[in-house]
Amino acid sequence: MIEANNLLRQYSLHDKEYEDKALSVLRSGWYVLGNEVKGFEEEWAKYIGVKFCVGLASGLDALWISFRILGIGAGDEVIVASNAYIACVMGITINGATPVFVEPDEYDNIDADKIEAAITNKTKAILAVHLYGQACNMTKIMDIAHKYNLRVVEDCAQSHGNHWNGRTVGSFGDIGCFSFYPTKGCGAFGDAGCITTNNEEINKKVRIFRNYGSEKRYHNQMVGSNSRLDELQAGLLRVKLKYLPELNKEREKIAERYLLEIKNEQIKLPRIRPGADSTWHQFVIHTKYRNELQVYLREHGIGTLIHYPIPPHLSEAYQFLGKKEGDYPIAEEYAQEVLSLPMYNGMRKDEQSKIIEAINSFRGEKNYA
Ligand SMILES: *Cc1c(COP(=O)(O)O)cnc(C)c1O
Repeated sequence: MIEANNLLRQYSLHDKEYEDKALSVLRSGWYVLGNEVKGFEEEWAKYIGVKFCVGLASGLDALWISFRILGIGAGDEVIVASNAYIACVMGITINGATPVFVEPDEYDNIDADKIEAAITNKTKAILAVHLYGQACNMTKIMDIAHKYNLRVVEDCAQSHGNHWNGRTVGSFGDIGCFSFYPTKGCGAFGDAGCITTNNEEINKKVRIFRNYGSEKRYHNQMVGSNSRLDELQAGLLRVKLKYLPELNKEREKIAERYLLEIKNEQIKLPRIRPGADSTWHQFVIHTKYRNELQVYLREHGIGTLIHYPIPPHLSEAYQFLGKKEGDYPIAEEYAQEVLSLPMYNGMRKDEQSKIIEAINSFRGEKNYA
């Protein structure tokens, strides 16, 4: 069986180093907010090309804490892609703000040409989600933000080290939000996240917020949260980061093979916007025969995933937004036709060949959509 993802493979690539690091942290006697976190924050800020990075407990925390620190809450609107991951939307609504959905384009990211039409006098920010590893059109998004005086938060959870016009994502907006959930590019071995920013004030506020609103122990300046990156994860992330460019390159090679060798008229391969590159967090194809193909591949010993089967506006959690089927037809169509092929570090060539052959031999008849 070829799984859709296999985390043991990427661990095995550098297992000794992870184990040495874990032991050294365990033996240090210091487990929360110490030298490993400090070191990782410096190294990640440098990698992204920003002044500051603040380690947090998860990607969702990075999102909602960002909007909280920017003062965006009840009565405010935030623009987000209608096909985004549910956590993106939760990052907005946890603070009481309202998500305003804008449909994606053929690159699976927000259609920047449709953003202006969604702006009202309540709009405070754009959440640019770099989905599947590909950068959004940040030139257009930043232009619109400047024109209407909006904040820009980037959700880079799936985009660790990819670029828009040569500049790394997470360095464009007011804040970049990262998740280091194990399946993400620079995955930790548990939950972890961070924000990146060039703004000293934001850096300081998030740093204080993550630690019960205190900079100095027992001197609480604001009602904060507990969202601290721990030493063990930070240490392991420092090891992962050393190899991240190489890991990204390896997935790019797999994507190149898929793009070159998958030949099936019933399948649309992912497209990359001119000016963008992708870290290939997922390799997402579109097909009218999605459900049939998923079953076919499973029968051929190949696992796949769907990112995502239900668009946020139709999820049970967001019934209170009052949206219905047909409101965002592109996102709804994508939810019926996207399929994520196996994509992970350490995937063998023969496994890649088997996947390509199986897809090329598929002929869909029934449309389950
Ligand atoms: C994973 C992910 C998140 C949430 O990150 P967690 O660390 O799981 O909280 C947010 N946005 C996107 C796009 C993601 O892929």
